[in-house]
Amino acid sequence: MKTVIVWYRNDLRVHDHPALSIAAQDGTVVVPVFVLSDDLLSGKRSGSNRNRFLLESLQDVRTSLQNLGSDLIILHGTPNVELPKLAQLTSAEAVYYTADYTPYSLKRDKNMKSTLDTLNIEFRSFPGRLAVSTLDKLHTKTGTIHKVFTPFYKNWLEIQRRAVAELPKLSALPKSVDAGRLPELESITLRDDLSERALPGGETAGRKRLAEFIETDIEDYRETNNDMAADRTSRLSPYLHFGCVSPREVETLLPENSGAAAWHRQLAWREFYHYIMYNNPKTITEPFQERYSVLSWDPNPAFEQAWQDGKTGFPIVDAAMRQIKLEGWMHNRGRLITASFYTKQLWLDWHNGEAYFMKMLLDGDTSNNVGNWQWITSIGVDPAPVYRRLYNPTLQQQNYDPTGAYVRKYVPELQNVPDKYLAEPWTMPAELQEEIGCKMGTNYPNPIVDHKLARLAALERYQAVPRVT
Ligand SMILES: Cc1cc2nc3c(=O)[nH]c(=O)nc-3n(C[C@H](O)[C@H](O)[C@H](O)COP(=O)(O)OP(=O)(O)OC[C@H]3O[C@@H](n4cnc5c(N)ncnc54)[C@H](O)[C@@H]3O)c2cc1C
Repeated sequence: MKTVIVWYRNDLRVHDHPALSIAAQDGTVVVPVFVLSDDLLSGKRSGSNRNRFLLESLQDVRTSLQNLGSDLIILHGTPNVELPKLAQLTSAEAVYYTADYTPYSLKRDKNMKSTLDTLNIEFRSFPGRLAVSTLDKLHTKTGTIHKVFTPFYKNWLEIQRRAVAELPKLSALPKSVDAGRLPELESITLRDDLSERALPGGETAGRKRLAEFIETDIEDYRETNNDMAADRTSRLSPYLHFGCVSPREVETLLPENSGAAAWHRQLAWREFYHYIMYNNPKTITEPFQERYSVLSWDPNPAFEQAWQDGKTGFPIVDAAMRQIKLEGWMHNRGRLITASFYTKQLWLDWHNGEAYFMKMLLDGDTSNNVGNWQWITSIGVDPAPVYRRLYNPTLQQQNYDPTGAYVRKYVPELQNVPDKYLAEPWTMPAELQEEIGCKMGTNYPNPIVDHKLARLAALERYQAVPRVT
């Protein structure tokens, strides 16, 4: 009987899993496996929050596979060594996997293919990471790679979609293999880096969240997605990152209303950034707009620390930075404000801000994180004049947290500051500061920069960058 290994990576689900579903056809013995490697758990783009989410997701997918008659084998080591060993042990003829598009994944899979080729084992990729089955069919009308979101989005909408894969019936693992143990949480996380209020990982939790979002919040998404206090976005990003939820299946579940259409458009941003990274791998470190590689940043450990700790003296920035620490997640508007502040007000190197987000975020995803950091720093795709993405924290707070509920939730020392002063607490009269127990410089920091001066300095530095002719 034929045996096929299904190599799990960031596709941690059993529903709409084409590789698993097709492997299970015709009575094939399916051997699902996940390889825990040092790269993944402690490489420079790893993070404790994501390691915990991964562990929970692996436990969940293992339970689901057991319910379907199989199990998830957990191996520790280098995939390139462990998978060929498993293939030989189980006499597998093929390894199936869900295609991924980051430079790291592409290199890993290329190496795996050459190893398996020498052993005469088929290495076959399947869709499932994105709603579209391939990125190779997306291009501008003249056949070039998209650089701007809106034409990409129109093109993306037109691409034909695959049918949702069936939930497979599986046979038991071959007797020759032991499923192995999942590691203890302590062995793969740094306790100090773990967020207290992070969402739980796993397909079961992801599907529940999706159902609730569709039931209660999606209809109003267009109106509420920028309301930071309302917190009515889906929070599906970590589940999408780890593949606990299938973007293709989600598409088929969306109701027909303007909120769902607006949400679907956001999902296209995720696919856009995967497409950009896939077609421009050097943007993992280099600006997409090459002329901006001459920008030089001003290292400043005190600014860096104040930003990470949520102690910049700008309430909306501080609230968002405390949210990421507490929850391993930050509202999209908060990400825009804090990243704009980091680069264009503090003039800190975007690579370091990106790295901090990557360390903390449950949804930390190379393509999305790098793409968005470059976008807000005005060095990436979808160009717009620099000042358009150089935000004034006061105005942002007034627009997107008008009641101050978001700021008060995450920055309790500002709890009693009257609405009138909440976006600029440093303008409170000294007697009022005394009266409400919130003295600037003592209970809450004074602003670490002058927004107007920092803005002008940033604009000058961008303007000094030579244009390409
Ligand atoms: C500086 C910065 C860094 C970011 N880093 C990441 C990251 O590492 N991982 C990540 O998944 N998202 C990242 N984002 C995008 C966005 O902030 C999150 O996807 C979103 O906040 C997740 O919350 P949600 O699931 O409730 O989103 P919803 O509003 O419910 O949106 C639905 C889905 O659409 C996708 N999406 C929405 N907006 C974007 C966007 N701007 N770019 C790409 N995909 C988007 C996400 O998959 C999201 O889950 C970043 C944004 C900024 C500005």
